[in-house]
Amino acid sequence: MICPRCGSSSVRLSRMRPSDLVRLLLLQRPVRCHVCLHRRFVNVLLALRLRNKRAGGDERRVPS
Ligand SMILES: [Zn+2]
Repeated sequence: MICPRCGSSSVRLSRMRPSDLVRLLLLQRPVRCHVCLHRRFVNVLLALRLRNKRAGGDERRVPS
């Protein structure tokens, strides 16, 4: 996945916010570019592909 703003490929899944629930209902998930910090929404299937791309690294939620 390529960031449309800076063209970088270091785009990761972004943390979900309560306001993202509406987007989630539309089958979209937030992703964030780690270079320019541009946040955007992509289809959940694309987001899943993004997650599977990482070898063994899972984003565990740390209870605060
Ligand atoms: Zn970017």
